[in-house]
Amino acid sequence: MSVLVVTGASRGIGAATAKLAVSQGYRVVVNYLANEQAANQVVGSIEAAGGSAIAVSADVSLEADVVRLFEETLSRFGQVDALVNNAGILGPHMPLEAMTVERITRVFNTNVIGSMLCAREAIKFMSTSNGGVGGGIVNVSSMAAKLGSPYEYVDYAASKGAIDSLTKGLAIELAECGIRVNAVRPGVIHTDIHASGGEPDRVDRVKQNVPMKRGGTTVEVAHAILWLLSAEASYVTGAFIDVSGGR
Ligand code: NAP
Repeated sequence: MSVLVVTGASRGIGAATAKLAVSQGYRVVVNYLANEQAANQVVGSIEAAGGSAIAVSADVSLEADVVRLFEETLSRFGQVDALVNNAGILGPHMPLEAMTVERITRVFNTNVIGSMLCAREAIKFMSTSNGGVGGGIVNVSSMAAKLGSPYEYVDYAASKGAIDSLTKGLAIELAECGIRVNAVRPGVIHTDIHASGGEPDRVDRVKQNVPMKRGGTTVEVAHAILWLLSAEASYVTGAFIDVSGGR
């Protein structure tokens, strides 16, 4: 049975991906930052569905934590076949001129450096050039990478632009190593992340600008992520799926 590591899987899109992955035969590593209870609930619901999962706390922005995350994965499941770089954060709405360097650094450390560190560790085990059997990586970007998020969080949007560049470059770097690298760009999705921006009901405001006139669900994003990881997408790498209701 293949093993999937999902970062930031205690809530939101990560939790939905971890739960849906069980129906596709994955054993799942549910990474989280601090919310142990929520992570354990995700593991509990996977086990209740007959699947296998572990919860591992690790801050993806810290190298030592990321190394430990993959060591624990290997010690428990013996292999790593797929990674979803999902953990991501944003700060309260404000223009760039009001942002502190601490805030910008925190966003980039989690969203960009975290994804790069997790990919680096996964590649060590998955790459055929290292004796692995190959695998898949899906990066969770955002439509913010294209829209820029003016007056709200251009730091976050720029971090997702970096994720798009990472996806393209890494896909080419790993194309001959048995690893496909792709990304999804969610639009406005119903999760807790909007509360960190200071507007828990942001989806209800922004949905008027979405051609489909609604926010997306976490499961709709999870389906796109898992398709990109699946054998059905075996010739797809360096690709992006916008899961955004047409926005
Ligand atoms: P969310 O509901 O706020 O959940 C965030 C998850 O990330 C939680 O599991 C959290 O763990 C974890 N996390 C935060 N910082 C972490 C760190 N340093 N190390 C490890 N885990 C960390 O977020 P979401 O809305 O599902 O977003 C998931 C991804 O989708 C993000 O990359 C986000 O940028 C992207 N996205 C979301 C939307 C949207 O509208 N929701 C749109 C476009 C893109 P704890 O529970 O322990 O705090």
